Amino acid sequence: MNNKHVIIIGGGPAGIEAAYYLANNGIRITVFEKDEYPGGNVKNWAKLFPDFGDASVVRKQITEKLKHDNIKFLNNTKIENLAWENNNWIATSGSEKYIADVTLLATGFEVFDAKRKEELGYGIYDNVITSVDFEDMYKTGKILTKEGKIPERIAFLNCVGSRDEKVGNHYCSRVCCITAVKQAIEFKELVPDAHAYCFYMDMRMAGQFYEELYRKSQEKYGVNYIRGRISEAAVTIDNRIQIKAEDTLSALPMKMTVDILVLMVGIESSESTTKICTDNNIVGPYGFAKSKSLFGMDNFSEKPGLFLAGTCKRPLTLPETIADGRSAAVEIMNYLKS
Ligand code: SF4
Repeated sequence: MNNKHVIIIGGGPAGIEAAYYLANNGIRITVFEKDEYPGGNVKNWAKLFPDFGDASVVRKQITEKLKHDNIKFLNNTKIENLAWENNNWIATSGSEKYIADVTLLATGFEVFDAKRKEELGYGIYDNVITSVDFEDMYKTGKILTKEGKIPERIAFLNCVGSRDEKVGNHYCSRVCCITAVKQAIEFKELVPDAHAYCFYMDMRMAGQFYEELYRKSQEKYGVNYIRGRISEAAVTIDNRIQIKAEDTLSALPMKMTVDILVLMVGIESSESTTKICTDNNIVGPYGFAKSKSLFGMDNFSEKPGLFLAGTCKRPLTLPETIADGRSAAVEIMNYLKS
């Protein structure tokens, strides 16, 4: 195996897990990461759901795996082109070309740009933030309005950029309901007397311990869940946020003023995924990578020697992403042996 070379595009959890497993089996690996640091979107989190584990610890555990003699890690290196030529995969970055027997695409995801939902005021009103901004603020140990005040009332809005005809994303991003529950609890722990509201279409708690956490958020922390979608956000004279919504259980319109509105932004295909998949004719719905089959061949693309792992295929949770990286590595081993 040690004359084989595998290139991995993406130094996030799936790519690194695959790199580590393959390197341990004597395969030479080059990992390309477009950013400075490895770890992908794990950097966006302070604590992880459902157990509130420290994300920086998990990120360190993941990235430690790159310290392996068989792994070459190239940061700040964006692969602009990937092509199959003369029975090899050729990856191009600037004037450099890299040749490999196998390519693993692990290009991860991008979070939805909330500015595309102009009616919600992100980028216009200071106290409309995203779930990623909330994590950044939480890392400082405080949740404050732009004016530096402790909020008395906060609202979380689910499904921003997902399950949304207007932006063309019909799919569910799978992680944002549980993130809203987690962040509402985190907020209530910091400011127990404040009120937290979560506006949802459906609460999708399809993960281990998610349902329990959802229940705990109501019973122990008093988080209020309102079935309804916010149609509009506007700023008040004192820089608070007035939201208009319809309570779809009572079928009544409602108005509420909050100090901070948090938009639970969904998962989208990354620019690199869509470009590489389009060039190689393996692009699936919404620009994600298309696997050969969901049933047993999910790490294969339609192209021989081009494998897929993690959220470049669809929204996945972090544990699912890591497991998928490992699964891709097993398939690559079998492919190289055959
Ligand atoms: S996980 Fe919840 S918030 Fe996210 S898209 Fe699905 S239903 Fe909406």
